[in-house]
Amino acid sequence: MLQQGYPLEVIAQMTGGKLTGDPGNTVIEELLTDSRKFTSPERTLFFAIVTPRNDGHQYIGELYKKGLRCFCVSRLPEPSMPDAVFIQVSDTLEALQKLAAAHRASFSVPVIGITGSNGKTIIKEWLWQLISPEKTIVRSPKSYNSQIGVPLSVWQMKSLHNLAIFEAGISQPGEMKHLHRIIRPTIGIFTNIGHAHDQYFSSQKQKTIEKLKLFPGVGLLVFNSDNPLISECINKSGLKKESLFDWGRNEHAWLRITGIQIEKTGSTINGIFSGKNLSIEIPFSDEASIENAIHCWAIMLSFGYGPDVTASRMKKLTRVAMRLEMKEGINGCSVIDDAYSSDPDSLAIALDFMVQQNQHHKRTVILSDMMQGSPDETGLYKVIAGLLSDKGVNKFIGIGPAMMRHRELFSMEKSFYPSTESFITGFKSMAFRNETILLKGARIFEFERINQLLQQKSHETILEVNLNALVHNLNYYRTLLKPGTKLMAMVKAFSYGSGSFEIANALQFHRADYLAVAYADEGVELRKAGISLPVMVMNPEESGMEAMLQYSLEPEIYNFRSLQMLLKAMESFGNPPESEILIHIKLDTGMHRLGFEEYELENLCTMLNNSPRIRVQSVFSHLVGSDDPGMDAFTRHQIALFSQMTDKLEKRLGYDFLRHILNSAGIARFPEAQFSMVRLGISLYGISTDPEEQKMLETVTSLKTSISQIKTIQPGETVGYSRAWTADKKTTIATIPIGYADGLSRRLGNGKGKMLVNGHMAPVAGNICMDMTMLDITGIDASEGDEVTVFGEELPIAGLAKAMDTIPYEILTAISRRVKRVYFQE
Ligand SMILES: *Cc1c(COP(=O)(O)O)cnc(C)c1O
Repeated sequence: MLQQGYPLEVIAQMTGGKLTGDPGNTVIEELLTDSRKFTSPERTLFFAIVTPRNDGHQYIGELYKKGLRCFCVSRLPEPSMPDAVFIQVSDTLEALQKLAAAHRASFSVPVIGITGSNGKTIIKEWLWQLISPEKTIVRSPKSYNSQIGVPLSVWQMKSLHNLAIFEAGISQPGEMKHLHRIIRPTIGIFTNIGHAHDQYFSSQKQKTIEKLKLFPGVGLLVFNSDNPLISECINKSGLKKESLFDWGRNEHAWLRITGIQIEKTGSTINGIFSGKNLSIEIPFSDEASIENAIHCWAIMLSFGYGPDVTASRMKKLTRVAMRLEMKEGINGCSVIDDAYSSDPDSLAIALDFMVQQNQHHKRTVILSDMMQGSPDETGLYKVIAGLLSDKGVNKFIGIGPAMMRHRELFSMEKSFYPSTESFITGFKSMAFRNETILLKGARIFEFERINQLLQQKSHETILEVNLNALVHNLNYYRTLLKPGTKLMAMVKAFSYGSGSFEIANALQFHRADYLAVAYADEGVELRKAGISLPVMVMNPEESGMEAMLQYSLEPEIYNFRSLQMLLKAMESFGNPPESEILIHIKLDTGMHRLGFEEYELENLCTMLNNSPRIRVQSVFSHLVGSDDPGMDAFTRHQIALFSQMTDKLEKRLGYDFLRHILNSAGIARFPEAQFSMVRLGISLYGISTDPEEQKMLETVTSLKTSISQIKTIQPGETVGYSRAWTADKKTTIATIPIGYADGLSRRLGNGKGKMLVNGHMAPVAGNICMDMTMLDITGIDASEGDEVTVFGEELPIAGLAKAMDTIPYEILTAISRRVKRVYFQE
């Protein structure tokens, strides 16, 4: 049963809600809690979840417009929505959880529940790798382990599954009992206990006891009994003795670990189980991986897997890719590389990431055979084909014999190849142009070879951009804003060097209110890449005015000349005469760069009042020293002047508009001047001049390269052009492929700059060349090909700026376009 979902009426009963509107025969298969992940209106029920920071009810109108009709709400929306159906409940999150719990109750297959501080996702993925040859497994997508993530995971259970693996994570007391009700595991794994979320618990012990609330009723609980706290809490928990499966070095452990040999490429773990000596090898040598692997081993043993099968599968465990990467590809394509796994669940996740990308109209998926054992192969490939069409995939390339067998199931433009080899033989780069390409294949298909063909050839220097960190920083600044204050994100100058539409796209997805660019062409580029947020253009030029009107970009008007340019463009550009042109008025309150001064306001208002099609959307000014306490008096003077000037404008124009004066540094330091919007720039990219604030931010950009060649030189020999640097002893020199043409300033030559090589600082030797730089790596254990960090998390850009006697802004924006940007998201 349940392949077909539940009738809406039944869902109303399951959630205890009241139905409004005619449900007809509507059957629900998909649950949606994040309106941004909306893909198809059919068979989808939206839960309007209310959190302290967000209220799902505000997205109902938007979803209704897109065709969605079924909503679970705690209050009915105001304007009537014909043919929409509402399930009204007192608490939508609770309703979602009840629904998932009722769904779960209809299955009697084994369910593994995993909790603990670390390792949950990796253990879940590894168990999937180890057991999926025999079992059809449903598991939490990514690390969906929260109060919302768990019900969504459990909802994926279908009658075809014969094993479920779900993770559960909590951050506060009282949460686990809800998750227990939904997952109701029959088998438990307690990974370990660490210090995350300590602030919400009175002690480690309280946290451990709280986490154990996932396990009442399990027939088996796997844990490490070397940890005295975990052991003690479990022994007192009331769980039956015979259900406990502990492992550890202690003598009483059920699976007793007798030795671990660690080598560079892997480790061997020996143990005794039921009186027998056993051993496994895993291709990892870090402590966390060893612990995770032993948890999996215990499960394999309890499932009755023999030593040979267990050992051979353990050896083949693969790293769990915790992040999805997107890179610039050939012919203007973007390539999302997920070449590690191939199964419907992880495909759905990767497709979601693809759907978030708006830059290309065409979505292409290259997919290998699924490596999931399934008794119903056709059913499995039907699910895949359905997923691809739901997510709007236009072009599909299937690789592998099973794909060939099921080619008829796919409805989009398609082609099939029996093997990776045959695809590569027939590869024509011209067949891919301006597309977003998702590459997803099981390990044995070696899709990294396809990846190489699709990637833009470029040298090894890359700028890594962490989109999660960007979003973290965005959200951090949101917490500093008064309710209702809007946020404009500055994406001028190629988003401070970190990319254009990729960054804007992430900001749009995470609902920034406004974007700002410097020039019209930057704005046009964003529009062409599908960015629909309002965009302010700060330096409108005469040549760009018409393009701005055409692409609905909003110019900053800073003097009478720029206003005249706009009026002229409005005349010659054939906008419908009734359409409104939105502008932003810049006031000069002390920067003395661009902007109207107080004495000009009277004339300005007269002109604006005579141009009824123009509407002032916002009025703003810029602070000259918001980060510098020594200038606070001047900053306050600017703020007061701004306040006074905007009041005057409002009176004369007869309507209100947005007001904004704060840049990054101003947001925290002058909260009283937030007005109705703030403009977040450099700090969005993880940089603050205030050391306390810096601690709250995450590093967004890292510039990395790798060693091309290593050589040893003798005392007295010199390095580089003009013999500017002389070795005073026997010296090891590494050459790296980055130079001033990449934006690495020549000012960093001859020891001024230092880079990070395998955890050690290596000074620059000699002058920086156009495309190359030499480092003194004497005493550092390094080989050709090793990574070199120019700046990043461990080597903050601020230090580099200091060495160069400049500011981080200059370093970031100087990184040339030839350095490939790689975006990733966890
Ligand atoms: C660049 C810029 C900002 C952002 O400044 P940050 O210091 O990077 O936050 C704000 N307003 C204007 C007008 C700008 O030009």
